[in-house]
Parts: sequence; C-alpha cells; structure tokens
Amino acid sequence: MSEHFPVCNANQVVRVLRRNGFLLVSQKGSHQKWLMIINGWTGATRVIVFALLLAVVIAVAWVVAAASAAKRRAASLGCASRITSISLAVRLWAEDNGGVCASNFLCMSNELTPKILVCPGDRRRQKATDWASLTPANCSYEIMSPGLRVKDTNTAFIRCAIHGHLGYTDGTVFDGVRRRHKYE
Ligand SMILES: [Zn+2]
Repeated sequence: MSEHFPVCNANQVVRVLRRNGFLLVSQKGSHQKWLMIINGWTGATRVIVFALLLAVVIAVAWVVAAASAAKRRAASLGCASRITSISLAVRLWAEDNGGVCASNFLCMSNELTPKILVCPGDRRRQKATDWASLTPANCSYEIMSPGLRVKDTNTAFIRCAIHGHLGYTDGTVFDGVRRRHKYE
C-alpha cells in the first residue's frame, strides 16, 4: 500500500521554516519579492548570475584544495625531518654497539624520545609520553632492517607507514621521488 505525503506549496514551506527558526526573514512576503526579482531577470542576467555563482564555488573549491595540498606537503616534510632525526639517533646507538643498528626503538631510549615516533601526517596514532607506555599504537615508523651495519647506506633502515618514506643510516630520506638530505 502506497503512502501519500501531503503536497505543499512554496508559501507553506516558507511558513514552516520561519516558524521553526530556519528562516531569518521576518518581513512577511519578502521571499515572494525575491521570487519576483528573480523572475524579472532576463535570460542574460540569469546566465551572468549563474556564472558568478559558479566562479565563487570554483574559487572556494580551489582555495580549499590548495590549503589541503599545502597541509599534506608540510606533513610530508615534517615526516622526513623526523626520519633524519631518528637516523642520527640510530648512528649514535650503533657507534656504541659495534657499528650495528638497533633491532627496535626501545633499545635507543637514551638517543631518542618516543614523541618523535609519530609521523605528523598520522591521525590515528597518539604520541607516547614515555617509553614504558610505547606500543605499536604510538609509532608510525617501522624498522625494516634490524641489525643493519651502520655503514650500509644503500639499504633502507626505517619506513613511515603513512607516507612510505624510507630512511637510511646516513640521514637521507627517499620520499618516493629521490633521496633527500637534511634541509632539502
Ligand atoms: Zn610519514
């Protein structure tokens, strides 16, 4: 059995909106004035107004997209900077441990702070306040080559799970395009 909905006209819709506070037009019949104005426009005027509205929508979309791209780029650069800092800590640790890199981040508690282990682009993970509370939920980076010789600068040591950036023991970062040094 089909259900019938009441059919209402534009005036009824406006009255309902105004009664419920959705319409801030207090003057009675002002929406009708607007309808009359729009109906009075020529075809050319309508095209111009439509084009202007379209231009505003496109401009807003472009600004939002540009801001989003800038935010993603900043997060990517921040991630590369963290990988470089972690690589420095890896080198320091290896110098005291026979030139071999650590097999986990906890080993490097004297050279690292756990707060650096969350990528700036990672929205899911929270920074650990101390090493005792560190879990995989507080670390965006994975050690790909545990026990790597620190002099082996051609093998990636760590990887960001968000960006896929690779970190090497010489402090360089491969961002998917090329290996970058610090401050590049
Ligand atoms: Zn990252």
